[in-house]
Amino acid sequence: MEIRLAERIVTLPPYLFAEIDRLKAEARRKGIDLISFGIGDPDLPTPAHIVEAGQAAMADPANHRYPDYEGMPAFRAAVCRWYERRFGVAGLDPDTECVSLIGSKEGIAHIALALLDPGDIALCPDPGYPVYSIGTRFAGGVPYYLPLEAKNGFLPDLESIPADVLKKAKVLWLNYPNNPTGAVADLDFWKRVVEFAKKHEIIVLSDNAYSEVTFDGYVPPSFLQAPGALEVGAEFHSLSKTYNMTGWRAGALVGNRTLVQALGKVKTNVDSGIFQAVQVAGIAALEGDQSCVAKNNEIYARRRAVLVEGLRSMGWEVEPMKATFYLWVKTPGGRKSMDVVARLIDEAGVVATPGVGFGLGGHGEGYVRFAITTSEERTREAVERMRKIAW
Ligand SMILES: *Cc1c(COP(=O)(O)O)cnc(C)c1O
Repeated sequence: MEIRLAERIVTLPPYLFAEIDRLKAEARRKGIDLISFGIGDPDLPTPAHIVEAGQAAMADPANHRYPDYEGMPAFRAAVCRWYERRFGVAGLDPDTECVSLIGSKEGIAHIALALLDPGDIALCPDPGYPVYSIGTRFAGGVPYYLPLEAKNGFLPDLESIPADVLKKAKVLWLNYPNNPTGAVADLDFWKRVVEFAKKHEIIVLSDNAYSEVTFDGYVPPSFLQAPGALEVGAEFHSLSKTYNMTGWRAGALVGNRTLVQALGKVKTNVDSGIFQAVQVAGIAALEGDQSCVAKNNEIYARRRAVLVEGLRSMGWEVEPMKATFYLWVKTPGGRKSMDVVARLIDEAGVVATPGVGFGLGGHGEGYVRFAITTSEERTREAVERMRKIAW
């Protein structure tokens, strides 16, 4: 028989990275040693004190059973205490205003099921993390793409959204520090977002995965610091990028209790929580010595300097990011991002990500994203190779 898949899968946008995978495979066949700036996944290990806490917890049979659905109370309490220490957001109730997630991606995708009915609009940044719009579509919602443009500091122009869209919009997704542009938003922006949300009755979902990956003394705020934020929205956080824990799968949603509990309700019906040993490791991460974060950022800063200087020496336009490990770079001569990435692979064995892959609305075109998740030495080597390309 012919297996017929659901519309939501059949109509998924084409996987643009398949072409890059093909080019990479071809380069490898030719014996080219690839240097990758393609993946937003830290190459550095999880700090030892976190691994050790996880190892000890793994050996304890009490952790071998189903975990609490909402997450261990101790994990949720650690997240709330961290929000107070780090952002000054005090008084979050771990029982009703925090739900643990099997990595924040899972929650970002699932919350659409709790909020969107068929036809509801979710405002999604473009370029942006694809999960906001795909999660929306899986729930029967409709993404409306908000262009992030250099002339606005890669912040969305909320005033330009048409009135009929605002009427149907239920959710506004925002992500600062931003993947893929590396842009940041200050507290004033978040205050404007709260006003906007109240005026138009739109729920704000902030994705703050990169708040700790920062440079030059910059300290990003949380959306929850804006007065009134708890009335209109919630924030996703993740241990993945802060503590090099992408493989462990630990994150949380914090904020408005109706939103937190609604996501909790979806999750009790689709998963059974985070492995408790991972939660114990997560507590060690949040409550332990934070010097590992600064050390990470020093390593990223050195790589950033090498890559920025190298790309500038090639005549490329680059602004060093204040946060995230992403350098968002204009393509030379305004070339198509896919063409530039193909030539980087073919002529230099360097892998970057075409901006067009981040925006179904097309606003990532004309840019290439470099993730500085490759050693300083390999970054230097990549620059040497790229400099030889005649554009
Ligand atoms: C990496 C990333 C996340 C975090 O993903 P996890 O599922 O927590 O590992 C969330 N949002 C963005 C924009 C990211 O780049």
